[in-house]
Amino acid sequence: MKYFSIDTPSLKASFKEAVIKGIAPDKGLYYPDHIPSLDASFFERIESLSPVEIGLEVMRPFTKDILSKSDLKKILETVLDFDFPVVSLTESVGSLELFHGPTLAFKDVGARFMAQCLGLFSEKNQAPITVLVATSGDTGGAVANGFLGVEGVEVVILYPSGKVSPIQEKQLTTLGQNIRALEVDGTFDDCQKMVKTAFLDKDITDHKQLTSANSINVARWLPQMLYYFLAYKALKPSLDKSGKELVFSVPSGNFGNICAGMVAREMGLPVTHFIAATNANKVVPNFMKQGKYQPEKSIATISNAMDVGDPSNFVRILQMNQNEHSILEKGFSAFSFTDAETKEAMRAIAQEHGYTAEPHGAIGYLGLVEYQKDHPNTYGVFLETAHPVKFLEVVEETLGKTLTIPKKIVEVLSKQKQASKISNYEGLKDFIMQ
Ligand SMILES: *Cc1c(COP(=O)(O)O)cnc(C)c1O
Repeated sequence: MKYFSIDTPSLKASFKEAVIKGIAPDKGLYYPDHIPSLDASFFERIESLSPVEIGLEVMRPFTKDILSKSDLKKILETVLDFDFPVVSLTESVGSLELFHGPTLAFKDVGARFMAQCLGLFSEKNQAPITVLVATSGDTGGAVANGFLGVEGVEVVILYPSGKVSPIQEKQLTTLGQNIRALEVDGTFDDCQKMVKTAFLDKDITDHKQLTSANSINVARWLPQMLYYFLAYKALKPSLDKSGKELVFSVPSGNFGNICAGMVAREMGLPVTHFIAATNANKVVPNFMKQGKYQPEKSIATISNAMDVGDPSNFVRILQMNQNEHSILEKGFSAFSFTDAETKEAMRAIAQEHGYTAEPHGAIGYLGLVEYQKDHPNTYGVFLETAHPVKFLEVVEETLGKTLTIPKKIVEVLSKQKQASKISNYEGLKDFIMQ
């Protein structure tokens, strides 16, 4: 399997090159040169397979030129060591909980998979790799945790001072070892700009192998397919019985998560429709309505992990659908919701179903409700992408109740923050070069 740059299809890379580079030399996103189909027999026996066995069949074709089967198995055993339950709210709606990992967000899956891959590659190269990442919140914690203790990989995380939640700050500043945090006097955009400048700075790149760990990296993006298969495994008996069609509603920001689910469908996973649910950042819902893709400045909302005005992974979704709006709309819809609608949904989910959803999951729920109005014979799964305590203030205020903080978080909150402060690019450069 080769990966090609969507912008220049003649630029090809192996899985290893695509993971180390992150992005193609022309700044295009890498995309697999074909999407393999899984055997019908795989879906027939899926209930008897363990998560790692499912992961092996799904990920093997994408990695087999580079990773041996036993390497991939080891990686998957590390990545999939927590649960992905589907919690049923009604006979036709379930929540796929992706927050049982170490940092309580779905990004743990991709971050861990990528960390394990890079660890392996650096071992074989014997040259250390430096991962540089800017975070507005969830990514930093997942990357810090995923890469902790991975030999041959140094991680530098930049975050905007005072603009991440206290829990998020502790998650990315307290680990130590090969993880270092830089507290930037500026915004998330400033952090991202500094990272981009470093990638183009020859003084740095002559000395260091730099890579980024953001969601466009194929090693973060593709393993997100796995939990769609695991959800199908869990639901298969009831789907077989009810005869309902399976649909997924995915709260979307950069559109990596939903795009992975759509790759799973291309491989044969029986899903009839994907719903992208967004907050007020509605570039994709507008595109579906008007047929024109118009990037916007991002708008701040209570579901802030999805405040994205120009979602990077959407080009992959277009690529998958031959860049044809008419092909895409057959199996994909997109809806946008306001903060007021999100809060109302959080209250309705609590009152009617006794379930606590945080803002991102609530938007996924709303997308499902909208779609199911016209498609009653479906079983809809919305993805609950983070634990409610990660958005503690808004959840407690909206629901008028106090949440119990999980032990993992209580522990992290008691640890000492360690971060170096920087205020400009020179600060970052000195830090990397020292
Ligand atoms: C990152 C994130 C999202 C958005 O996922 P994309 O793959 O960027 O669409 C949704 N919810 C939460 C909690 C996140 O952290």
